[in-house]
Amino acid sequence: MYTYPGNIHIHTTYSDGSGTIDEIAAAASAAGLRYIIIADHETLAGLPEEGIRHGVVVLVGVELNRENNHYLVLGVDRLPRGNEEEPQEMIDRLNRAGALGFIAHPFEKGSPYIAGGKSYHWTRLPERGFTGLEIWNYTSYWRGRVTSIPRTIYWFLFNRAAAVDSPPPEALALWDDYTGRGMRVTAIGTSDAHAARVRVAGIPVEIFPYAFLFRQINTYLCFKEKMSGAFPEAKGQVYAALREGRCYVSYDRLYPGEGFSFAAFRGLREEAAAIMGEEMPWQEGLFLAVRSPARRSEIRIIKDGRLFCRGGGPELRCRANGPGVYRAEVYYRTLAGKARPWIYANPIYIRSQG
Ligand SMILES: [Zn+2]
Ligand SMILES: [Zn+2]
Repeated sequence: MYTYPGNIHIHTTYSDGSGTIDEIAAAASAAGLRYIIIADHETLAGLPEEGIRHGVVVLVGVELNRENNHYLVLGVDRLPRGNEEEPQEMIDRLNRAGALGFIAHPFEKGSPYIAGGKSYHWTRLPERGFTGLEIWNYTSYWRGRVTSIPRTIYWFLFNRAAAVDSPPPEALALWDDYTGRGMRVTAIGTSDAHAARVRVAGIPVEIFPYAFLFRQINTYLCFKEKMSGAFPEAKGQVYAALREGRCYVSYDRLYPGEGFSFAAFRGLREEAAAIMGEEMPWQEGLFLAVRSPARRSEIRIIKDGRLFCRGGGPELRCRANGPGVYRAEVYYRTLAGKARPWIYANPIYIRSQG
């Protein structure tokens, strides 16, 4: 198994971001990322710049819809139409065309101090046809935390980690709800990077530069084979992992997520019967194993939206007790002893036979 960290949902100068694709790829390379996904607002202008840049696989999708119901669409060659009023129509249409689609910031709260309290949440959540959803969007989450000016200034200048607590519980509940209805839904963590350049009291300030965001919430992809050095193949590998849910979200600021694994096994010495994102039939004697990159961690396995088993790091094994949707969460234990939300892995779908 090979894992590749990357960053999803990035804005460039083609919409309201401040960096060019090449500058952004250089920043991603310096942060150790292996792929990035650009998603400008309603334009695919960056598409001709797809390729391997600074050793990073650069992919270009698009973020559709202006007001509400923002939707990330990947794997399209021509700009599709959005649909703010009937997002399900847009999703079905793009699904038929074979595109990947992700619900962006479904529960964005906005801030009374930013853009007059404007929030770009979902007004009509879809029933079907999408690939997955953002469970953790760094920029959107931060905005929602700006409820006090003095505290925001303190966080921004001195303690940015304190502002980011856990993915919105509503987003996790929505994900569990969809998978509980028998769907396979890929959870991703994103930056929604803009690196906006503003002036505060006449002083130029760049809010969350790309180089900063590429060390916050990343999505790690799991491949069975190494990532290809040829762009078209690597692109196919990245999109296949996202489509199937072979990926996990990591808040890398706490500790890098490299080295995490979550798999189902039939016996101790056997190869994994399924890894995160995969589906398999139920059988007796199946157990689930989670490995955390850090000793200082608390591991939880969630089955059908409820805590199933938990234990200290770096490893947790527990026996599955029947068909269900099993996913893993890891909390990083800080020196002060606080367990902080860190890694969220996509489910292993254990289905009843027949
Ligand atoms: Zn958006
Ligand atoms: Zn965006």
